[in-house]
Amino acid sequence: MTEVTDLQSESPACGHSACRQNWIDTGESECVQPQVDVTLHLRVYDPYKFAAAAVAQAIKDGVDPEEAASTYTEDNLTGCARMIFDPGQSPPGCQIEDSSAIEAGDVG
Ligand SMILES: [Zn+2]
Repeated sequence: MTEVTDLQSESPACGHSACRQNWIDTGESECVQPQVDVTLHLRVYDPYKFAAAAVAQAIKDGVDPEEAASTYTEDNLTGCARMIFDPGQSPPGCQIEDSSAIEAGDVG
């Protein structure tokens, strides 16, 4: 009975389901935060509106408005996409570690 108590005290206190499963599978109680890779495919039907959204996000993130307006333009849609989907502040409960965006060409 004491063994069970000892094992429970070694289980991860972080509350991650992945850590708990890892502990059950391997006995390792080290925190292994789950990683999620996200891929988005965007069709930008209004580049000006999209760029304006990026400018607004950049200003919200503390970028100088003039600098934001000259950086996030309809000619820099990949930069705009990264500002919109990878803003300075990550969504609650996660940390966006890296992002990339490529222009995949025109959709007919
Ligand atoms: Zn954990």
